[in-house]
Amino acid sequence: MPHAAIALFQKTFGVAPRAAASAPGRVNLIGEHTDYNGGPVLPIAIAERTTAVVGAAEDGLLEAVSSNGGAVVRMGWQEELPAGWGAYVGGVLRELWAAEALPPGGGVRVAVTSDVPVGAGLSSSAALTVSTAKAVAELAGAKLNGRQIAGVAFRAEQDHVGVRCGVMDQTIAALGKTGHALLLECASLEVKQIPFRARLLLVNTGTRHDLATGALNERRVECEAAVKQLKIELLPELVWLASWPAEWLPRLKRALKDPIRSRAVHVVGETARTRFGAQLLSQGKLKAFGALMYESHESCRRLYQCSAPELDTVVHAAKRAGALGARLTGAGWGGAAIVLVGKGEKKIVDAIKRAFVKAYGREPAISDVKASAGARPEKAG
Ligand code: ADP
Ligand code: MG
Repeated sequence: MPHAAIALFQKTFGVAPRAAASAPGRVNLIGEHTDYNGGPVLPIAIAERTTAVVGAAEDGLLEAVSSNGGAVVRMGWQEELPAGWGAYVGGVLRELWAAEALPPGGGVRVAVTSDVPVGAGLSSSAALTVSTAKAVAELAGAKLNGRQIAGVAFRAEQDHVGVRCGVMDQTIAALGKTGHALLLECASLEVKQIPFRARLLLVNTGTRHDLATGALNERRVECEAAVKQLKIELLPELVWLASWPAEWLPRLKRALKDPIRSRAVHVVGETARTRFGAQLLSQGKLKAFGALMYESHESCRRLYQCSAPELDTVVHAAKRAGALGARLTGAGWGGAAIVLVGKGEKKIVDAIKRAFVKAYGREPAISDVKASAGARPEKAG
């Protein structure tokens, strides 16, 4: 909400802010581990948002405060960026500077409020970088479009914070549209808005297995190894694993050995499922889309081995209770699952809770998700 951010700005800096913007978190409907393999993803922006309000500071200085707590960050953004959340905002200023979209003197004050949970796989980091980039560009009077804002936010996180992320999070935060999912081709950056108005639940298992970051890097290395081998043996011009033609799967299987073979089969299959899923959604075929969600989960579990028992429990219970579809989302190894609900929502919710309590002795957090708006300017006063 802008008024909370405006009040935080006033209280911290003793003056009124001059510009404001907000950006949402996201949930990915299908397309798991396809982004860094140059394939498609199909995220929606969610209702939870981060708001950034901004004003001028002394030349070259960044002063930032967040409702998430901690001291006010004060730093020269051209100097080495400190660890912590200030680096995300400092990275945004550096990239805006490169795009000639900083106010004269380059001094900026930022106050941030947010209801996107941090580190829950809903992409609070992109909500932060995209909202800040949009607010500061507004302050500078620079006309950056959604893609340019996404680019600034992506490079802030990848090059300045040093997170090896894909482009999905920043792109959906910048370009999301109410009632739509966004089909994003991560190699070409082509995007397409796909109508999506179904009932969707987010089931947070409240677990994040420690191996998540290590395992993710291991998968990336395995996918790179698959590309290298397929290049040598079969297709010299192959750049992205997701570009491998689905009808050549038998050749791929012969050329690779497990576990690399399984990882590659997942990526090629998930790529086809995601593109087909986007078509089904645009035709309103929710049942068929739901079936692809179950297939995606199975492929994540068996081939990519990125599920967790808690996620399997949720998906299994949802399926037995008659949900249209369910799958892990946000990379896996714990975290959250999504459930596509047709009829009988209460029965499905009860069944998931019961199965989870039986297995783990506690209830998972279940909430509704609605395809919401991407980044937008807000009133600064
Ligand atoms: P997520 O899945 O939520 O994006 P990340 O690890 O990518 O998880 O990003 C979380 C980090 O982003 C936090 O540790 C913090 O540095 C920063 N961040 C996100 N939202 C905020 C906020 N509202 N205030 C301060 N820092 C934030
Ligand atoms: Mg993030």
